[in-house]
Amino acid sequence: MNSMHAPASQQDLSLDEFWMPFTANRQFKDRPRLLESAEGMYYTDVEGRQVIDGTSGLWCCNAGHGRKEIAEAVSKQIAKMDFAPTFQMGHPLPFQLAERLVEIAPEGLNRVFFTNSGSESVDTALKIALAYHRARGEGTRTRLIGRELGYHGVGFGGISVGGMVNNRKAFGVQLPGVDHLPHTLDLERNAFTRGLPKHGVEYADHLERLVNLHGAENIAAVIVEPMSGSAGVILPPQGYLKRLREITEKHGILLIFDEVITGFGRVGSPFASQRWEVTPDIMTTAKGLTNGAIPMGAVFASDQIQDAFMHGPDGIIELFHGYTYSGHPVAAAAALATLDIYARDGLLTRIRDLEIYWQEGLHSLQGLPNVIDIRNTGMVGAVHLASRDGAPGKRGYDVFEGCFWNGLMVRNSGDIIAMAPPLIVEKSHIDQIINTLGDVIRRTP
Ligand code: PMP
Repeated sequence: MNSMHAPASQQDLSLDEFWMPFTANRQFKDRPRLLESAEGMYYTDVEGRQVIDGTSGLWCCNAGHGRKEIAEAVSKQIAKMDFAPTFQMGHPLPFQLAERLVEIAPEGLNRVFFTNSGSESVDTALKIALAYHRARGEGTRTRLIGRELGYHGVGFGGISVGGMVNNRKAFGVQLPGVDHLPHTLDLERNAFTRGLPKHGVEYADHLERLVNLHGAENIAAVIVEPMSGSAGVILPPQGYLKRLREITEKHGILLIFDEVITGFGRVGSPFASQRWEVTPDIMTTAKGLTNGAIPMGAVFASDQIQDAFMHGPDGIIELFHGYTYSGHPVAAAAALATLDIYARDGLLTRIRDLEIYWQEGLHSLQGLPNVIDIRNTGMVGAVHLASRDGAPGKRGYDVFEGCFWNGLMVRNSGDIIAMAPPLIVEKSHIDQIINTLGDVIRRTP
């Protein structure tokens, strides 16, 4: 309806054609939330209203917005070489990027496979796990284990191992042979814990029961987010991830950490597995890899895993998997510029100096109406609200909307308000986020 490239103004913008993802499309049109520009910690909407970014976009703009170095790297790379295949040929950028990534990756995860999103990273990781066992002559290992309330993107693999009911129930078919560990959200024992909860290490032992039920020789991999983000910031109880690591190791089951959210400094180290001292066999990432500027994901694996594929005849492709855009030059250029910023500004560990301030700010909201739990780690937090009778998710949505119109971007997962500000955040921003959220919660019935 607009002439080509005309600036969008809300009056002449048709809202019918774009089928918005993960959005209540009909309701959106009543009062659309339309962002137009972004700089540092702030978005500006089409009406010129400033909105502080409490969620790093969608957990991805860890270095804040409007990074000129990324913009320049991208435009230079498009001019120099817009695209090049990485099937049976290559170009230097993804090799350089993989080398740089391995420098900050958990010890031993020294091979990198590129994708374009978190969902693709998850499907790639699951396929590598299955193919790895086959390549080693253990082809009966086909079962996959996820976790209730886990989010692993929207591919069929991801929704199968994922455990958020709404992401699965409309679609019927899923991967066969998948089980789920119990989630670790324990409001009775752990409500209002600061940092990792004390209770619940035993939730990991459910894995032993699944091994008893199916036999280890039939189980390929366990996939979990070290911290579940999308379901509303569900933290691993102390010792839980270590216990999962011990049990998987004992039974030859691969452990996959989905670090699409926790990667790139979110919990105070480059990856959560470093902060919580548990190294998986495979790790998925995306989002913060390019600061959200260009779609890209990366799957990390150890050289031992890759080696298992390397014993066939010469000239035969070892892993029949990849995307047209795997290692895309423009995405790789964006990622390299992003890693430069992270390194120069110390962003991958920066929030260690601020996490207590963030924690105490968040927990100051305890006692407000309907607040039944507050959770935090690193630069992530959630305020868990009680559901209104008969309308689960409605109060959370109202708070999300109220925050937006009061200049704060948060996310609601049902009645849980989740936040993850960019890692450039300062104390004054934290104050603004907490004050706005508190005001909105107070005023929301
Ligand atoms: N895994 C996790 C842990 C995620 O949080 C997400 C996205 N929120 C995904 C996978 C999927 O990523 P994408 O939306 O880029 O496909």
